[in-house]
Amino acid sequence: MKQAVVTEPGKIEFKEVSEPICHWGEVMMEVKVIGVCGSDIHVWHGKHPFVTYPLVQGHEFSGKVLKVGDGVKGIKKGMKVTALPQVVCGNCGPCRSGLFNVCENLAVRGFQAAGCASNLYVVPAGSVIPIPDSMTYEQGALVEPLACGAHSTSLAGDLTGKNVLVVGAATIGNLVAQAARCRGAKKILIGNRSGGRKLEVAKECGLNETFYQKNESIPDAVKRVFGDEGYQVAFECAGAREIPKIACETISKGGVIIVLGVAGGDTPIPMAILNEHQLTVRGSMMYQHCDYKQAVEWIASGEVITDPLLSKEFKFDKYPEAYKFIDEHSKDIMKVMVTLGK
Ligand SMILES: [Zn+2]
Ligand SMILES: [Zn+2]
Repeated sequence: MKQAVVTEPGKIEFKEVSEPICHWGEVMMEVKVIGVCGSDIHVWHGKHPFVTYPLVQGHEFSGKVLKVGDGVKGIKKGMKVTALPQVVCGNCGPCRSGLFNVCENLAVRGFQAAGCASNLYVVPAGSVIPIPDSMTYEQGALVEPLACGAHSTSLAGDLTGKNVLVVGAATIGNLVAQAARCRGAKKILIGNRSGGRKLEVAKECGLNETFYQKNESIPDAVKRVFGDEGYQVAFECAGAREIPKIACETISKGGVIIVLGVAGGDTPIPMAILNEHQLTVRGSMMYQHCDYKQAVEWIASGEVITDPLLSKEFKFDKYPEAYKFIDEHSKDIMKVMVTLGK
């Protein structure tokens, strides 16, 4: 079978490798769609701090089950599936207390373990999540980023009736905002620094309150949209260092700030306000099975709108072109996908 290997930053080689073996407890899928995400681009540019080359990318994907190993129950040949990309030890403190998403020895497929960029891909049955036939393979590949939204919004307490600020309007920010809507948030305000088409896409996904940080500061946008009600929950999805501080200064007392974005360097947090306003600042790391299942439900029911997020598709042998396209159009695109045998 064919496998796309990043041999060094900026270089993909298509290698002919032998077909993988589907052992006991494993599932082999024909890969159909691979979503490209921001962290893949960091790897492509040699700017990801936690990878070594050569590596096989691909952690957001969907496919069709081709074989199931002995001992696998509930997953059958022909089913549409996706899978969680974490490889965990199961034996560290966090794993043993159920927090395998923060496993001390975490490896993520596509980064520290081989990703799915090949015709066939074998994963442990325990990480496989079936998706309904009514869902497209593209939607199946969006389950991973939406699971980030499902997980982060589950960490924010009951969102019913709360006003929510989301900073960052790329795929993750968009899907976090839609997840907050699914969980009953009252008003959701989403904005970004880069402008471009991302704020229009937000509107196409039913996220009508937007702001462009170059034209309107966060405090001004918050005042315009939430007025005296203020907002009670914030999600940092931009990886911008100043956002937690701005959120602390503008969120209602007792508010919760969830950090998904990865910012380099020190991030200032105003401790006096944190204490005085009894705020919570909390990190959100990837997801667990329940988040994948929740994401599948929201997409299947149509509660999460996915069509506007699909920017462009490239065939498998055009993998490098997909990266070039993203580099050239980063302001205006949401999700670029690579398709195989579709
Ligand atoms: Zn990703
Ligand atoms: Zn572990």
